[in-house]
Amino acid sequence: MVWWWKHTNPYPFIAHHFSLSLSQKITKAKVAPKMQLLCRSLLPTAMSALPSAQARRTVCVWPGMRQICLRKNLMYGFMQLFSFPFKTLRGVSRSLGVSRLCSISNMSSSLQIELVPCLQDNYAYLLHDLDTGTVGVVDPSESLPIVDALSRNNRNLNYILNTHHHYDHTGGNVDLKSRYGAKVIGSNIDRERIPGIDISLNDGDTWMFAGHEVHVIATPGHTKGHISFYFPASGAIFTGDTLFSLSCGKLFEGTPEQMHLSLEKLMLLPEDTNIYCGHEYTLSNSKFALSIEPGNEELESYAANVANLRKKNLPTIPTTLKREKLCNPFLRTSSEEIRCALNIPANASDAEALGVIRQAKDNF
Ligand SMILES: [Zn+2]
Repeated sequence: MVWWWKHTNPYPFIAHHFSLSLSQKITKAKVAPKMQLLCRSLLPTAMSALPSAQARRTVCVWPGMRQICLRKNLMYGFMQLFSFPFKTLRGVSRSLGVSRLCSISNMSSSLQIELVPCLQDNYAYLLHDLDTGTVGVVDPSESLPIVDALSRNNRNLNYILNTHHHYDHTGGNVDLKSRYGAKVIGSNIDRERIPGIDISLNDGDTWMFAGHEVHVIATPGHTKGHISFYFPASGAIFTGDTLFSLSCGKLFEGTPEQMHLSLEKLMLLPEDTNIYCGHEYTLSNSKFALSIEPGNEELESYAANVANLRKKNLPTIPTTLKREKLCNPFLRTSSEEIRCALNIPANASDAEALGVIRQAKDNF
């Protein structure tokens, strides 16, 4: 399934289309089990075509490999058959611009990401590995919306990932841990401040979530122990309160230099990386961003889009790194227009400029 998805889908964002626009009828989550069932039922037939000794040897030596190869080949065949309606639907979705409406789930790999609104304006994210059924949640500020989302799909919870220790990112830890026995993962620097922490990670560590590499990137500035979780194979990063759409987090425990360095690290990621942040602040952020860079046409059009989405009560997340580079003032510290609007001298460093922009935003 994953193989097919990666090799036959030229538009990764079609995953978004499947996940919501077609969610009631043809979701990948619904198709996958049927496909897997079909494959499982055909596997014995396929194996019987092999000489029995060869089959036994294959089974003994490469049990995992054999199943994977056969499953992928069979799956490819099936999915070719099914590709026509999907292609048609893809066309329809694109013409309707549905990708924006479908930002609640992302399935560009076997990792499904579901956005769960919490508290006033927080977002937690459910991670679901379709192959193993492993489930994680990023930054559960409270437990009940997570419990609801899990029980809707009859799922367990294996991991809780925290980007930082603030209560509106960890408030659900203890209850979720006691209900499901989930393991809590967070920064080693914050091991004394993250409730129920089991696994503490450092900058540069790679942690595995059900076969998905998770790169731990230290992104201090908002807090000193803040980390971001980057899933390279899925092109997704969870940035907590470091990078928002059109803004960055307040500098509670860090300096403008630290925040600037953190944002610089994130800017090195591929431009099509989907950014999942901790809050729905985009509309108010867009007003500040436009006030200091009114001549930015990309920003103007994005702001209009954001206003439209929020009017319909739809999320503006995920955003992409590419868009943020074009529109987010905290990633545009060298913009002449921004510097001019805030009287930042031309010879001021980018970190100094970020400090001034942050102060202006705090007082906006
Ligand atoms: Zn915070």
